[in-house]
Amino acid sequence: MLRIYDTRARQVQEVPGGRVVRMYTCGPTVYRYAHVGNLRSYLLSDLIRRVLERRRARVEVCQNITDVGHLVDDAEIGEDKVAAQARAEGRSSMEIARFYEDAFRRDTAALNLRPPDHTPRATETIDLMIELIVKLMEKGHAYAVPDGSVFFAAETFPGYGEISGNRLDALQPGHRVEGVDPRKRFHADWALWKHSHRELVWETPWGGTGFPGWHIECSAMSLEFLGDHIDLHTGGIDLRFPHHEDERAQSDSAAGKEVVRHWVHGEHLLFDGRKMAKSTGNVVLLSDVAEAGLDPLAVRLAFLEHRYRQQMNLTWDTLRAADRTLRRWRARVAEWAESPSAPLHTESVRQAEAAFEDDLDTPAALRVLRELEKADAVSPGAKFETFLQLDHLLGLDLSTEIGKVRSLPPGGAELLAARERAREGRDWAAADRLREELAELGVHVADTPEGQVWR
Ligand code: AMP
Ligand code: ZN
Repeated sequence: MLRIYDTRARQVQEVPGGRVVRMYTCGPTVYRYAHVGNLRSYLLSDLIRRVLERRRARVEVCQNITDVGHLVDDAEIGEDKVAAQARAEGRSSMEIARFYEDAFRRDTAALNLRPPDHTPRATETIDLMIELIVKLMEKGHAYAVPDGSVFFAAETFPGYGEISGNRLDALQPGHRVEGVDPRKRFHADWALWKHSHRELVWETPWGGTGFPGWHIECSAMSLEFLGDHIDLHTGGIDLRFPHHEDERAQSDSAAGKEVVRHWVHGEHLLFDGRKMAKSTGNVVLLSDVAEAGLDPLAVRLAFLEHRYRQQMNLTWDTLRAADRTLRRWRARVAEWAESPSAPLHTESVRQAEAAFEDDLDTPAALRVLRELEKADAVSPGAKFETFLQLDHLLGLDLSTEIGKVRSLPPGGAELLAARERAREGRDWAAADRLREELAELGVHVADTPEGQVWR
C-alpha cells in the first residue's frame, strides 16, 4: 500500500489501492515555458499515479490550466500573469496562453508524465466559478463589494491555516498580493472575483464584469471534475499558502465537508544552489537540456535520485551523470535482451516497489537497480525482465535500444581510437582505463584476434 506524507496531518498516511483514486494537481499558469523545477512538481503526481496503478487502483487525475486570474506579484490589482505577458509581447492573452499550454504538453510528454484525464482551462469553466461564488455568498462565506468584486470571509472557515500552519490571528495585514484593501472586511479575506473592464472579462449575476481569482479556479474545477471526495491533492511546497489554504476553505465551505483527504507537496528544486525561479533568472528549461545533447529523461532520472520531500540541487554535472547512467542502462537492457529469457528477479521487484510505496523513496529504488545490474548471480535474462518491469514505475524508456543497430554515442569513436593506439603501444593500463570510460558510455569493448570490437 502507498504511504505518503500528508502535509495537513503532518505524518505519513496510507492510501489504499484496488479502487478508484481521485487526484487533483494544480496545473501550470501558461504565461511562460515551464522550467524543470515546475516539472519536478508535476512528476510527483505522475509517480503517485504509477504506484497506485500497480496496486490496481484506477486513478482519475485532473490538472487544470490557469490561463486567467493568477495575479502578478506586486502588481496593482487587475493585472494577471497571462495578461501582463500578452501586453509585453504585444499579443492577445489567448495567443499567449495557448502557445505556452502547447509547450507545456510537449515538455510533460518528453518527461513521460502521463496525461491527466481532465485538463480544464480556467477560461472555459468560468460558469462553474460563478456558480460556486454564488453558492458561497448564499451560505454567508463570501460578500460582494459595491464595485462588483467578491471576497471570501476568512473568519467563516474555522479550519483556516491547518495545511500551512499560518493561523488567521497571526497573519499580518498586507500578507497578500492584493495588499491591504479597504474593500475587505478583514485583512485576511481574499478575492474570489475581481471587478475589471480589461480585455478578458465576464458578466456576473451580482453585477458588472470581471475575472476570477486563481484560488477559486482550482476549487471549481476540482469539485466539477472529481466531485467532493478527492483522495489526493498535489502541488509544489509554495502552494501550501495561500493557494491551498484558500482552496480548502472555499471547497469545504461549499461542500459542507472535508473535500480533500491528503494534501501532498513536493519540495523545491534548486539550481547551482539557488531556488529555480523565473523571478531570479535561475531557470533551466527542458529545451536547454536537449540542446546540451542530453536526453530529457536524464532530468527525470536526476529527480528520482532524490526524494520528493527533499530540496534538491541540480547542476549540469548531475544532469550529465544521469544521462550517462540512462544510456548505459538502455544499452545493458538491449544487451540482456539477446540472452536466453528467464523469469523476473522477484526480490528486486519487491524491494523496488516497497521503496516506491514508502513515501516515494525513489533513491532506494534506484539502488536496487544498481545492485541488480552488478549482480553476477542473476542471469542477464532475469535482469532484462526486471528492468523492464520496474520501468513501469520509473518511466525512463529503458527498452528503447532493444534490437537497434547501435551507433556510437558522442565521444565514443574518439575513445575507441585512443584505445586502439594504446593497445598498439602496449600501454595496457591506458587501454583498461579507456575500456572503463567506454563502458560508462554504454559501449562494451572486447578484444579479439581481429582487434577490438564493441557492442
Ligand atoms: P506555476 O506555473 O508558477 O503556478 O508553478 C507550477 C508548479 O511548479 C507549482 O506546483 C509550483 O509549486 C511549482 N514550482 C515552482 N517553482 C518550483 C521549483 N523551483 N521547484 C519545484 N517546484 C516548483
Ligand atoms: Zn490550484
